[in-house]
Amino acid sequence: MSQIVYVELNNMGKIPYVGQRMSISELKKYLEALTFSSFQPKFVVVHHTAAPNLKQRPNGFTDQHLINLKHYYENVMNWNGAPHFFVDDKGIIVFQALNKAGVHAKSYNSSSWGIEMLGNYDTVSDFNNPRAKEIFDTTQELVGFLCDFLKVQPNTLKFHRDDPLTNKTCPGKLVDKSKFIEAVNKHYLVFSGEGAEPWTNPVFEVTLGANVFIYSKTRVVNSRTIVPAREFINKLQPKNYALTKIGNNIVWMNGIKKYSTAVAEIDENGSSWIFLRDVCDKTGAIFLLLKS
Ligand SMILES: [Zn+2]
Repeated sequence: MSQIVYVELNNMGKIPYVGQRMSISELKKYLEALTFSSFQPKFVVVHHTAAPNLKQRPNGFTDQHLINLKHYYENVMNWNGAPHFFVDDKGIIVFQALNKAGVHAKSYNSSSWGIEMLGNYDTVSDFNNPRAKEIFDTTQELVGFLCDFLKVQPNTLKFHRDDPLTNKTCPGKLVDKSKFIEAVNKHYLVFSGEGAEPWTNPVFEVTLGANVFIYSKTRVVNSRTIVPAREFINKLQPKNYALTKIGNNIVWMNGIKKYSTAVAEIDENGSSWIFLRDVCDKTGAIFLLLKS
């Protein structure tokens, strides 16, 4: 109980202290309820604590450790802000209010959220510690989520050492920034939905004589299924020739027969797509929907 009183007393200090562990979904709810006026974060800055290192916090941060940090920032450093987040091998801690500017990197304080990873990643012992993998994974997921929240790409993230006003190696000289961004991006794609196909993909079994194949590279346009012309025709009639686009049609030969079907769409690579029903009707192929 005495600790709770201490927290309340500390809340009267200069740092807008939160000191709460949150899952990503709790964080999402918390962020959506906040109003951003004086401080509008535009990117994320990643740090390591250096001291304490992993050995000095064998069980991550306790509530008392967090209160001690708050006391240190307010009374020793005389700051009125702090890093927004701490990450240890137990998860994410929102350290101070996310709609208030923090203090963590001189050039970036007014425009970014700061995240402190527990550990000293200038040292091989911490970098190779299995606990570091947990901390990095959690941090990369957190940054991916925050980038999606801010509607910015993961390559906007900064390391503290990118700040021209510091000569620190933070978040550790063993940490490779491009690999870090790559890992963040995997999470970002999940949160943003950018990794998903923007169209539904029905799967068909197509039969033309003895040629039977499953075809899934489909798109649906105005409830009609389309397929990439050259790729699909090569699969349907492997001995076709003289396949070309003439006007708004794809034209090709197979044996002595000449075929023509309308182009439905030109894709982002400039390739023509045709209607599945048209090409099957014209060639006499049968298609069966396996999965819509
Ligand atoms: Zn730093």
